[in-house]
Amino acid sequence: MGNNVPVKRIAIFGSTGSIGKQALDVIASHPDMFVPEILTAQNNEDLLIMQALKFKPNIVVIGDEKKGIRVKQALATTDTKVFIGEQALEEVAAMDCYDMMLAAIVGFAGLKPTLQALENGKAIALANKETLVVAGDYVMKKAVEKKVPIIPVDSEHSAIFQCLIGETRNKIEKIILTASGGPFLGKKPNFLVNVKRDHALQHPNWNMGAKISVDSATLMNKGLEMIEAKWLFNLRPDQIQVVIHPQSILHSMVQFEDGGIKAQMGLPDMKLPIQYALAFPYRIGNKFPRYDFKKPNALTFEEPDIKTFRNLVLATEALNKGGNLPCVLNAANEIAVYAFLRNRIGFLDMTDLIERTMERVPFIEHPSLEEYFDSDAEARNFAASLIKL
Ligand code: NAD
Ligand code: MG
Repeated sequence: MGNNVPVKRIAIFGSTGSIGKQALDVIASHPDMFVPEILTAQNNEDLLIMQALKFKPNIVVIGDEKKGIRVKQALATTDTKVFIGEQALEEVAAMDCYDMMLAAIVGFAGLKPTLQALENGKAIALANKETLVVAGDYVMKKAVEKKVPIIPVDSEHSAIFQCLIGETRNKIEKIILTASGGPFLGKKPNFLVNVKRDHALQHPNWNMGAKISVDSATLMNKGLEMIEAKWLFNLRPDQIQVVIHPQSILHSMVQFEDGGIKAQMGLPDMKLPIQYALAFPYRIGNKFPRYDFKKPNALTFEEPDIKTFRNLVLATEALNKGGNLPCVLNAANEIAVYAFLRNRIGFLDMTDLIERTMERVPFIEHPSLEEYFDSDAEARNFAASLIKL
C-alpha cells in the first residue's frame, strides 16, 4: 500500500505535547509516507531539540523567546532553521514547504496559526478543538473558501468522520458522542469539592496533556466536543447527544434517518485517529494492539449526570445560543483549568467561574474575527479578576 501513497510533508504545531509526540511515533513508523517538515513547541526546548536532531525537520519554532538562543546553539551545525517567538508560528504557517498542518497546540493559542494555514490553502489535521469552539463559523467558511479539508483528530470526531464516508447523500438524524466519564464518573459534589490536581489528572483510559485531562474530569471536554461536532459536521444542536461509555472502545456513532446506527470502534489509543488523519484518504498498516473480543468484556452506556457535571449544561447553553458564547465559555474554562492546576481554586469552583463569566461578557450574535479575539480577552480578564491570578 505504502508505495502508492504520495509522500506528505507534515507541520506539527505543538510537537512536544501528547498529540505531537504520538504523531512523531506514527511518522517514525512510516518514513516513506510522511516527512516532518516543521516542528513547534512553546517552552520544552530540550524535547524540541531532541526531536529536531532525530527527525531533521526543515524548520523548528520555539515560542518562548528566552529559550531561543539555546535551541539555536544546539542546532547550529544542522540544516534545521530555528524561528523564535509567538509571531513566528504564523510566519511559518504561511510558508509553502509543507502539505498538512497537524494542529496540536492546546487552547486558544492554536487558533491564529491554524487560520494562517487555512489562508495558505493547507490541509488541516485538527486536534486543537478549541479552534472550532472559539470561531467555528469563521474557520469552516475559510476552509470552504480555500477548498481545504479539515480532518478531525479528536477520537470521537474521527469516528463520526469515518462513519460518514460513503453517506454524502444520506440524512443524519443525530450523532452520539461517547464520553468515558473521566476519573470521577459516579462521584457527587460532596466528593468533588475536595478533589485535587493530581487525582484529576489520572484519566482511566487515556494519557493526555494536563488541560484536556482536567477537561475530561469536569466533562467540559465533552461540552467542547459538542460544539466542535456542530461545526465539523454542520449539525443543529438538537442533533448532538452525549452518552457515557466508560470503556472507551466505541468512539462515537452516527444515526441516520432510517434509524440505522454506524459506530467506529477500537482500543483507546490516539495514534489511531492521528494516523488516520495524516494518511487520509488511505488506511495504512500498523502494529498497534487490537481489540480482543475473546476477552471478557462488557460495553456499557449510560446518561451523563448533568446535575453533578454542570459544565455540560453550560456548554449546551453555549452550543444553543452560539455567537461569542462558546468563545467566552472556552476562555473562562482555560483560566479556570489554569487556576485549578495551580491549586488556586477547587474543582467545583471551575464551573462557577465559567458560569459567572458567561453571564458577564456581553453577547454578540454574529461576531467578526476581531470580536472573537476581544471576547476571549474580556472573558479571560474577568475570569482572572475573580480569582486574582
Ligand atoms: P499538551 O499540553 O500535551 O501539548 C500542547 C502543545 O502545545 C505542546 O507542544 C506545547 O509546547 C504547545 N503549546 C502550549 N501552549 C502554547 C502556546 N501558547 N503557543 C504555542 N504552542 C503552545 O496538549 P495535548 O494533550 O497534546 O492536546 C493538544 C490539543 O489536542 C488540545 O487542543 C486537545 O484538546 C486536543 N486533543 C488531545 C488529545 C490527547 O489525547 N492528548 C485527544 C483529543 C484532542
Ligand atoms: Mg475526544
